[in-house]
Amino acid sequence: MPKLFGTFGVRGLANVELTPELVYRLGLALATHLGNQGEVAVGRDNRTSSEMLEQAVISGLTSGGCRVLRLGMVPTPVFSFGLRYYRCSAGVMITASHNPPEYNGVKFWEADGSGFSREREGEIERLLEEGRLRKVGWREIGGVEEADALEPYREEVLRRVKGPGRKLKVVVDCGNAVGSLVVPGLLSDLGMQVISLNDYLDGTYPSRKLEPLPENLTLLSRTVASCGADLGIALDGDADRSVVADETGRVLMGDRVFALVARHYLRGRKKPRIITPVATSSVIDDVARELGGEVVRTRVGEPEIVGEFKRNGGDLGGEENGGVMFFDWSMCREGIFTSLKFVEALAESGRKTSEFDATLPLYFQVKERISCPNELKGRVMEKLVEEFSSHPQDRRDGLKIQMEDGWLLLRPSGTEPIFRCFAEARTEKRARELAELGLRKLREAVGKISA
Ligand code: MG
Repeated sequence: MPKLFGTFGVRGLANVELTPELVYRLGLALATHLGNQGEVAVGRDNRTSSEMLEQAVISGLTSGGCRVLRLGMVPTPVFSFGLRYYRCSAGVMITASHNPPEYNGVKFWEADGSGFSREREGEIERLLEEGRLRKVGWREIGGVEEADALEPYREEVLRRVKGPGRKLKVVVDCGNAVGSLVVPGLLSDLGMQVISLNDYLDGTYPSRKLEPLPENLTLLSRTVASCGADLGIALDGDADRSVVADETGRVLMGDRVFALVARHYLRGRKKPRIITPVATSSVIDDVARELGGEVVRTRVGEPEIVGEFKRNGGDLGGEENGGVMFFDWSMCREGIFTSLKFVEALAESGRKTSEFDATLPLYFQVKERISCPNELKGRVMEKLVEEFSSHPQDRRDGLKIQMEDGWLLLRPSGTEPIFRCFAEARTEKRARELAELGLRKLREAVGKISA
């Protein structure tokens, strides 16, 4: 059996790879893993296949003796909040995040609102492989109850976020996805003037691609500029990630939003500890220095950040793609909270969004990729380590080479037959040079090894 769990739970083409049969078995496997007891929260996004898969996972869970608390259609951060709020023993969220509408996914959650650890996913995988799934007798079949997580979430967030004080004009684009259920409303609750794009729910996602990349956000950028708005906010398909556009419509890189929010959120804390993967911009190191705190680097991926937090503690986690985790609020990447904290920070600064961004040092990043067959990746990596042996190296995830005026990260993808090549420097020219150097060494290594 191929490995089921990827970087974010089980993902696949709905009704083709991710069938109701498979999702039923996943539900039953989780129930078996939980000892055929306890209450499990179930939530879903608004994809055309999500309700079908929700029914399937509920059948599996209840057939395995778990009670189900159905939270319905919710953004992932609201789901994570709801499962803690109602004290469930685990959770299942049906979503494929930023993937196209024909995909879907199943992700398991711990009682504390964090995603399942790799170890627990491995245990579920083994139960499925060995067919050790246990159904219960008719008396023990679980019941299903419904509960609302949206309203308690809204109330709790409003307790934790200050309104901007001045009436900011905000354009928000939820991409016809579940973010629409919460984000425009919360922005209005905080006293802002809100222009909401693509805010009707449509599981075919007709308006834009769900990944919040600048090229998918042209409508947002144009609207912000033409309406004279102060900023724009866009969320991915399940609202665990958000990005910001400045008043000219320019989309800020995720790690800059992370750094600006970090500086605001952690001010005044004693030696704050910020956890982030090797691929995040050095701008976070500048912010940590300013705060008198430290940056702890991990391998790439949300579970790596959560794992480090659980082992050694921390204040804030974040990724270069705009996923930020506020450990004293939630154990889940929080696109909604991030965008609200950004607005709070911006308002407090009294600056325009572009000026607020310019309070951080400028860095340029180049992100490239090159194809490399999976079976060659190990030997390519050995070759690269040798090639760059005269530089300080970080081998935590791929190979990060620290130069005097920037860094280069060469990292094999865990899911695709490619090598990624990230470079960062203080000028665009230098970042480009570093990326070219990385690509050249990669090409040479792949060429030599396949010869
Ligand atoms: Mg997401």
